[in-house]
Amino acid sequence: MKVIIIGGVAGGASCAARLRRLDEKVEILMVEKGPYVSYANCGLPYHIGKVIEKESSLLVATREMFTAVFGIDCRTHCEAVAIDAKNKTVDLRNGMTGEVTTESYDKLVLSPGAPSIHPPLPGIDLPGIFQVRTVPDTRAVVEWLDKGTDFLAGMSNYTGMQQSKPSTRAVVVGGGFIGLECAENLIHRGFEVTLIQKPDHVLTHLDPEIAALVQGHIKRHGVKVVANDGVNGFKQLAGGAIEVLTEKGKTYPADVVILAIGVRPDTKLANSAGIALGERGGILVDDQMHTSDPNIFAVGDAIEVKDFVTGEQSLIALAGPANRQGRIAADVICGRDSRYRGTQGTSIIGLFGGAAAWTGVSEKTLNRRGDTDYEKIYLFPNSHAGYYPGAKMIGLKVIFRKSDGKLLGAQALGEDGPAVDKRISALAVFLQMGATMDDLAEAELCYAPQFGSAKDAVNFAGMIAGNILRGDSPVSHWESADGAFLLDVRGPAELVMESVPGALNIPLPQLRSRLGELPRDREIKVICRSAQRAHYATRILLQNGFTASVLSGGMISRAMKEIAATK
Ligand SMILES: Cc1cc2nc3c(=O)[nH]c(=O)nc-3n(C[C@H](O)[C@H](O)[C@H](O)COP(=O)(O)OP(=O)(O)OC[C@H]3O[C@@H](n4cnc5c(N)ncnc54)[C@H](O)[C@@H]3O)c2cc1C
Repeated sequence: MKVIIIGGVAGGASCAARLRRLDEKVEILMVEKGPYVSYANCGLPYHIGKVIEKESSLLVATREMFTAVFGIDCRTHCEAVAIDAKNKTVDLRNGMTGEVTTESYDKLVLSPGAPSIHPPLPGIDLPGIFQVRTVPDTRAVVEWLDKGTDFLAGMSNYTGMQQSKPSTRAVVVGGGFIGLECAENLIHRGFEVTLIQKPDHVLTHLDPEIAALVQGHIKRHGVKVVANDGVNGFKQLAGGAIEVLTEKGKTYPADVVILAIGVRPDTKLANSAGIALGERGGILVDDQMHTSDPNIFAVGDAIEVKDFVTGEQSLIALAGPANRQGRIAADVICGRDSRYRGTQGTSIIGLFGGAAAWTGVSEKTLNRRGDTDYEKIYLFPNSHAGYYPGAKMIGLKVIFRKSDGKLLGAQALGEDGPAVDKRISALAVFLQMGATMDDLAEAELCYAPQFGSAKDAVNFAGMIAGNILRGDSPVSHWESADGAFLLDVRGPAELVMESVPGALNIPLPQLRSRLGELPRDREIKVICRSAQRAHYATRILLQNGFTASVLSGGMISRAMKEIAATK
């Protein structure tokens, strides 16, 4: 059997290596139009910031290694230019010589990825405007930063003896992963960074109140964020600098511009070969990675996947899914019954020492779908036991189904990146296993004081949700607080810092003796700092015949909403 794989990075390379591990006899030809295979695109922004100093560190495996270790005919600078699905052949163009040859296949795997969107805006091809998708793209940015415009060239001659370092300006267009990672790395390189984006918040997979905190965090680290405005052109300025023009008529001067406005599945070849595309514009595959042609498979960023929670067709460009899909395609080609489970969108981004991460569905997606069978909770546990030095708060939003208690999604952020990673990674596994919130409450996770708490954040989420689902401690949210009866059970010192207008204050220790001050004919929404004392108070109230609920996340989630409203 002969298998041709088009695209030699995440999905393609993992498919090729798995194929060889499963079958010593299969003839494998992997073609990559670029100069490198299996490189670390996820590391590219960090090379710009010199966190990853050497470009060679990004080259995870080489063409020679694929040939020597895996016995794979691996060709770089080799572009597949046409597929003849009927005769099962592919035309390949040698990028160095221009020569076109034809190869036949028994099975063909497409993993061409999703190139960066490059809209036809005036001036978009000016020198100094870059995208970051490949090693050569990144090399061009690094070279420009090291000695690009006259101005930047002056920068590299800066001796440190001058009174003040000349300021250099970068504009990043797009507030997704790549945009934010580039913004951080340009800050590391001493640039004044402006991030311009069309949506009203960064990281659009997050709900707005969580994204607002991310935005606040990057602003504190020097990134100027311009939201709700799109870029509509670029103009050359003197000395090699660029002026970025926006739809709202604003202008931003820049010595370097990074375009990171998203990616689009590469479907050119598939489309011209008559392979079916899906409603979202990606290659349509089944759960075994078959396209509409039974001899052609497709994996990675170029395909549409089923959203694990909603079942909707989605385009989700992530390295983990691409690698798993590559492996599944290899399994299926070798006769195994592997199946892809769908993509949850589990993601993490590191930002200035902290992290934001998420898995599963967001509240805004549920709202878009008109799905009301869900509840959400906000909690703000410590990254590890509070008594052990260095504990940092994690902000965690967990969404679950009201009717059966199943976990639907979670979003977290905090200054302790590994602690955020641990919680969302655990929740991602629970989600994939179809866990209920009771399963979370019962989870046995690692614990020693420097790593977690005897009741971990994940357990807490399960316990809080269980209390809600069983009616032990009903929940409400700040959206419903206007005009409601609010009871604040914090101590007087806390109220000096911040209070809610109109809320009655009865500190928790006095509650049992002051029940007579509370109404019996309306719901009492209970507030404290993070909702723990509000839960204790709610239990007291319910057992004394009152109608009460906990304002989820307490004053911290109120602050979060205020930040979101004023961002
Ligand atoms: C800067 C950056 C940072 C990222 N960070 C993360 C991260 O932190 N976490 C995460 O999960 N994901 C991240 N990603 C996304 C992740 O890299 C992709 O989801 C993953 O690489 C997709 O794999 P793929 O095989 O589908 O496509 P790719 O890895 O893009 O590979 C496709 C390859 O196919 C080649 N090709 C296309 N057409 C042809 C043709 N006709 N003939 C021959 N070759 C062809 C292309 O040259 C390309 O090299 C990042 C991506 C970028 C660009």
